[in-house]
Amino acid sequence: QAKAEGRNTYQIYNETMDAESRRRATVLASLRKAMDRGEFRLVYQPRMALADGRITGAEALLRWHSSELGEISPQVFIPLAEESGLILQIGEWVLGEALATLKRWRSHGLTETSVAVNVSVLQLLRSNLPDVLRNLIQDLGVPANRIELEVTESMVMQNAEQTTHVLNELRKLGITLAIDDFGTGYSSLVYLKRLPIDTLKIDKEFIGDLTRDPDDEAITATVITMGHSLGLNVIAEGVESEQQLSYLREQGCDEIQGFWLSPPLDAHRCLAFIRTWQPGAVAAIPAPY
Ligand code: C2E
Ligand code: MG
Ligand code: MG
Ligand code: MG
Repeated sequence: QAKAEGRNTYQIYNETMDAESRRRATVLASLRKAMDRGEFRLVYQPRMALADGRITGAEALLRWHSSELGEISPQVFIPLAEESGLILQIGEWVLGEALATLKRWRSHGLTETSVAVNVSVLQLLRSNLPDVLRNLIQDLGVPANRIELEVTESMVMQNAEQTTHVLNELRKLGITLAIDDFGTGYSSLVYLKRLPIDTLKIDKEFIGDLTRDPDDEAITATVITMGHSLGLNVIAEGVESEQQLSYLREQGCDEIQGFWLSPPLDAHRCLAFIRTWQPGAVAAIPAPY
């Protein structure tokens, strides 16, 4: 845009930009071309029920390999995609791709498996998400109740008034809704009660130091108890050790996700993982006392 305002403006703008904003501008320029170049792909991270060790589903996570810049982390490009509005187009691609995978897995017999998809709050506010999903569900013939959408706590709570209507529409389709990175935002308990949510995902920030940091243990235990009193399914993300898993089981957490179980995998590897998984082995892991 600065360029359009004339050469002078462009140069001043360019000189005053620090290294960080130049880097962002470079990444954004590549990001604008990424979709047409087919540089995105999805990986899937399984999650497991603690009660019986069953794999309940997998979370779709976006990956971008830029032909110009190499592999760029979602933590870098998702915020840029959100600020630029590109997330609307990218997000629609993600939904189509994830639901196509769900359909393929079902054709291989995984009819109990859910797919969770991260959606940006901009998609809730700006796009006709309920229409998009209704069409995808019809065209692909996948059941809505095997689709979960994840929205981060900070984003949804800051926009609770505006997003409630859309969330209700999505819920009417039969889709389930999860609050992601729970504990890092600032939830109003009123909204937590009022929003049509099914699932809380405890942020990995609190999980990493479980069994080492009593504060994180207290927070985690409290979130599980509170979630359950609100009738919600509680998932811990970022579970990396058996000690963490044991603690979470002891506290009655419903599901876990993390490197302990599996890193995110290509769709076909994730399918193979789920099909060969033996729930019994996990049920045998003892509580920490
Ligand atoms: P998230 O939704 O909270 O996803 C969990 C992140 O934790 C993922 O990072 C995952 O790879 C990572 N992770 C999984 N297990 C472990 C573990 O045991 N230990 C640790 N330390 N990390 C673990 P990733 O893939 O880099 O994604 C980062 C964030 O980018 C996601 O956080 C999500 O907010 C966003 N994101 C990813 N894909 C999409 C997408 O398709 N759309 C949107 N809007 N956001 C996305
Ligand atoms: Mg997520
Ligand atoms: Mg998260
Ligand atoms: Mg997170």
